[in-house]
Amino acid sequence: MSNIVKLACLCGQVTGRVKVIPKSFFHVHCLCCDCQNFASHLNNEENILNKYGASELFQTYPDLMEITEGQSKISAVQLKHKGLYRWHTTCCNMPLANTMSSSKIPFVGVSVKFMKFANEDEKMEILGPVTMKAFGKHSIGEMPKDAHAKFPISFMPKILGFMLKGMLMKKNNPSPFFSGKEPVVKINVLF
Ligand SMILES: [Zn+2]
Ligand SMILES: [Zn+2]
Repeated sequence: MSNIVKLACLCGQVTGRVKVIPKSFFHVHCLCCDCQNFASHLNNEENILNKYGASELFQTYPDLMEITEGQSKISAVQLKHKGLYRWHTTCCNMPLANTMSSSKIPFVGVSVKFMKFANEDEKMEILGPVTMKAFGKHSIGEMPKDAHAKFPISFMPKILGFMLKGMLMKKNNPSPFFSGKEPVVKINVLF
């Protein structure tokens, strides 16, 4: 069964929706320094990161996500050469999602903070538990016990299967962040 989850930024100017389809997503925590640096670039760590410095992500296919309002409040940065495009709002400095720098890759990591749930129970019902915590060695303070220090190799086959299916089914397009091959806004390169 698929669910539609409403998307809204903290101030409510950027809105949309994303479809949650079983076996078409990963619900993860990323503790890497790039995700933490992105939060500090937005000067909004307290609204973005948990106490360990983790960003909560819903990784899925771009064609399942839609932004319906507030397109003029969207901006994006790239923290380093060949790094991810990190999409965020300019109204309230909240992350929207990250994508690869190529529109061909069927991948979007939606910030769970951008997803609207009535409460934690509803979120658990729709997304299930966090299934992987990566790059725990960058945790703030002690690493969570269930985190992996780096990216777990055991997760690679799942990611590859997800990517392959996405490519075969052309799930990279349409995307809220690319128009054809081009990003919808100019990417601010920070390196
Ligand atoms: Zn906003
Ligand atoms: Zn990260």
